[in-house]
Amino acid sequence: MTMKEKLADFTQQGKALLAVNFYNFETLKGLLLAAQQTNSSLILQLSESSLHYLGIKPAIAMARVMLKEMNVEGWVHLDHGGSIEMVKECLDAGFDSVMIDASEKPFDENVRITKEAVKIAASYNANVEAELGYIAKLNQSHTFEPTSAEDAKNFVEATGVNALAIAIGNAHGFYKETPKLRLDRLKEIRAVTTCALVLHGSSGIPDEQLQEAIRCGISKINLATETKNAFMKKLQSLLANTDEIDLRKIFPNAIDEVKELIIKKLSVINA
Ligand SMILES: [Zn+2]
Repeated sequence: MTMKEKLADFTQQGKALLAVNFYNFETLKGLLLAAQQTNSSLILQLSESSLHYLGIKPAIAMARVMLKEMNVEGWVHLDHGGSIEMVKECLDAGFDSVMIDASEKPFDENVRITKEAVKIAASYNANVEAELGYIAKLNQSHTFEPTSAEDAKNFVEATGVNALAIAIGNAHGFYKETPKLRLDRLKEIRAVTTCALVLHGSSGIPDEQLQEAIRCGISKINLATETKNAFMKKLQSLLANTDEIDLRKIFPNAIDEVKELIIKKLSVINA
């Protein structure tokens, strides 16, 4: 099944897919072990910085081979694509899905750029996600204005996107205070459009709110910060207490940490 079909399916059934970012072989392996053990499907995401770090072709080749090797149903998605050129490059490399993020541009400009991405992706039968509203990026202020239902409806109709990231009190990175999602607004948006609704910045959102968000219409949940945190914190604590230089003896512990984190998240999301 293509990612576009799977996401449409899940949206209709009121279920959600977990979309997780990976950064290297070790984080990828941890994510896939969790999916394998829980028999879950997974969206594997790469941000532009991860693609600069890994290279587009090595990144997708590694993801594809590992999905097959570990017998996990999954897809590869560009997270926060910042330009049409980036979108094209990823589609040419074989990505199943791309996000075009022109959310910081005025509404009409966001529509124009997103529409162009949708047009290009059509010949690849790829899924396209856009963002409407202000979801604070790392180090940006957490003040926000929730995405309006009317704007969401008009935006989806004008662009033809399959998936839309919305601002409902969510933000990237860890939260300073426990977030309180605007589920009322989510319901209003869900009522006026059939496209998949995406929740970015789920690191630190309490489990009950994630489940409530799925009940109110979210069908893709993005998780990145908690994975990085689990992996690096484990490495830091291990390296502080050892002189071991054989990385193959140290890394498996950090891979395990990622696996355990994702197993927990999947149990919340699949419940
Ligand atoms: Zn995001």
